[in-house]
Amino acid sequence: MPETQPPLAGKLAGLTSSAIRDLLKLTADANIVSLAGGLPDAELMPGVRIAAAAESALRTNATLQYTESPGWGPLREVLAARESARLGRTVTIGEVFVTHGSQQALSLLAEVLLDPGALVVVEDPAYVGAIQVFRAAGARIAAVPLDDEGLRIDALEELIAAGQRPALVHTVSNFHNPGGVTMSPRRRQALAALAERYGFWVIEDDPYGELWFERPAPEPVASYSRSVIRLSSASKIIAPSLRVGWMVAPDRVCRAVELLKQGADLCGSALTQQIATELLADTAWLGGHIETVRTVYATRAGALVEAVGSRFGDRLRCSAASGGMFVWAEFTDGTDTTELLPRALEAGVAFVPGQAFAVSTAYTHAMRMCFTTAGPEVLAEAVDRLARAADRPAVVVAGR
Ligand code: PMP
Repeated sequence: MPETQPPLAGKLAGLTSSAIRDLLKLTADANIVSLAGGLPDAELMPGVRIAAAAESALRTNATLQYTESPGWGPLREVLAARESARLGRTVTIGEVFVTHGSQQALSLLAEVLLDPGALVVVEDPAYVGAIQVFRAAGARIAAVPLDDEGLRIDALEELIAAGQRPALVHTVSNFHNPGGVTMSPRRRQALAALAERYGFWVIEDDPYGELWFERPAPEPVASYSRSVIRLSSASKIIAPSLRVGWMVAPDRVCRAVELLKQGADLCGSALTQQIATELLADTAWLGGHIETVRTVYATRAGALVEAVGSRFGDRLRCSAASGGMFVWAEFTDGTDTTELLPRALEAGVAFVPGQAFAVSTAYTHAMRMCFTTAGPEVLAEAVDRLARAADRPAVVVAGR
């Protein structure tokens, strides 16, 4: 009997699996150096410290219980203090909401802030996880390009002047994924001013801000306006498996998110939230730990950019590696990175073609490279392999 099943919801029709996730499956091969994944280095994660915090958390069975939907109270207190220092004002506990990674904050906020058909502005190239969420919420998506100073405010102004009215602008203000750039202070101010003038929300998605190499990231966009909701996360500074992210948002937004979080998962894990509390509260230890991560990543980023410069010269231009986990590189000689990828995999190196992050611009000649999980020698070898693949002529497939 032919198997027939009832249909899935119509809104799924436009959703596809992330190209990056599909690619990650291919790069599990041990012979391939993967610059494709967006993973922090597990070797640098503080396993022993996490185990000690877990042990002390488990001294009482209270950590095995459900917790409050907005997050475990002491964690929200620690986060409120931390965010007060970051934003230069007193952040109250009512403004802090703990989520299952900052990805959940994006998805709950999309439900809370967007009606179907609402216009969302994302950066081009964009964080893929944000586009997926906004598409799933039934939003219309418009893209504003990035340059060396981050989101092009002039392009956003043009869009508004043309009569478009965004409900929401999403920005990765620091050490962009995938673009590598950081928004300049004057653009941060300008974005906050536009949000207030035209009455839209900004989501400042900031998981990488503390991973700076030479100088700290500028003041958050959220320090200029209460229309800016700030997201951050323990994933890149401690460990993603804690699944501890948080938002700082006006109380009324947090209460709306709370209603939806109850429907999504009731609450986060009291156990990992308590572990995160201990680690985030130990500011002397955490400062030293983050400094180590920064130093290691800075060395790796420097090695990657240098290898690209010496192997490719002007043929492949990299973003400045000033923090975070990624560099964005563009071929200046017309090399198509989607076509290059199979040859690169054959040569033993993986990257993500720019196309995976493209919204309006094709980014045919661009690529994202993640420098976090390999040492300098391996990164240099990866760039060698990439150069060999790029020097090999593209295979012309019959019929294409
Ligand atoms: N925002 C951005 C820009 C990211 O790059 C990521 C992770 N890759 C996230 C949000 C989500 O991270 P998490 O849910 O682990 O906090």
